[in-house]
Formats: sequence, structure tokens, C-alpha cells
Amino acid sequence: MKPTIVLVGRPNVGKSTLFNRLTKSRDAIVADVPGLTRDRHYGHGRLGKKPFLVVDTGGFEPLVKDGILHEMARQTEQAIAEADAVIFVVDGRTGLTPHDKEIANKLRRIDRPVFVAVNKAEGLNSGMVEADFHELGLGEPNAISAAHGEGVRGLIDLALDGF
Ligand code: GDP
Ligand code: MG
Repeated sequence: MKPTIVLVGRPNVGKSTLFNRLTKSRDAIVADVPGLTRDRHYGHGRLGKKPFLVVDTGGFEPLVKDGILHEMARQTEQAIAEADAVIFVVDGRTGLTPHDKEIANKLRRIDRPVFVAVNKAEGLNSGMVEADFHELGLGEPNAISAAHGEGVRGLIDLALDGF
């Protein structure tokens, strides 16, 4: 069985861009519009030395329908049910948000390894963008750029360690 890595995080942080990068596909819809209906996508991970499955949790419903908490609960439940490892994507340009903290509160309770990916970090100082996210209490944050492919291989190798 291939290990499954699930991507979670609030809308617009770059989950689908990371999914595309990991699967080398253009399957997942990348949109500038937050809250669009986006299906969950499964893909074959093609980056790194071990094969894996990757799941993009885009949200099933427009966020206006049931609100962001519903969306978050759904993603987190899914992460618990399907993941061997979870990558929690946050936005290094926006910085830490209350919504990130709420997701982190849930992720700290799950029985799976969680890796914080601080996305959109291209051109920024890694240490600086990571610093903001230590307080999530989910271990050492990892600065990446899904769009530019920076730090992604290292993050995946970390997440696949032990599988
Ligand atoms: P999702 O809602 O979490 O799936 O986010 P998307 O993958 O749809 O990306 C949301 C927006 O962030 C899009 O405009 C992307 O082009 C942009 N984005 C994603 N990754 C990066 C990145 O590494 N750097 C920058 N600067 N923008 C990014
Ligand atoms: Mg998406």
C-alpha cells in the first residue's frame, strides 16, 4: 500500500498548486477565487524516491453555505480517516490567521504525523516566514513555494520518512 498524504488548510493557501506540483498534473483546479466549489482530488505522487498518493481537500460546498468551520471540520475528519501523513498548508505572505489556529487545534489531536508547509515563500527569508508558525505547536514549519517548486521535495521526503 502506498502511503497517503493529505493536504489540508484554509482556502487560497496553495493546496491545489502543491497537489499539481506533487502529481505533475494539471488535474486540480487552481483558482484565484476563494470559496469556489472544488472537489477533493486524488493523485499519484511523482516526486521523491517513494510512490505515494496525495489528496487535495478543496472543499465540496461553497464556503458561504455552511461556513468555514464546517469546511474545516470536514477536511480534518478526512485527514484523520485517510491520511498516513498530513501536510497543513499555510500562507507565508498572509502570516498566521485565526483560522489557521483553529485548524491546528484539531490537527494537534489527530493520531497522524502533521507537517506544516509555509507556502508562497519564494523570495522570502525562510527562517522569517517559518517563525510566525511555530506557535501552531505542530513542529518545525517548512518554508516552501508550491508555485516555484522550492522546498517541496524536502518536505515530501520528510513526510514519507518511515513509510
Ligand atoms: P487552494 O485554495 O489552497 O487550493 O489554493 P490554490 O492552489 O488555488 O492557490 C491559491 C492562489 O495562491 C493562486 O492564485 C495561486 O497561484 C497562488 N499560489 C499558490 N502557490 C503559490 C506560491 O508558491 N507562491 C505564490 N506567490 N503564490 C502561490
Ligand atoms: Mg484548491
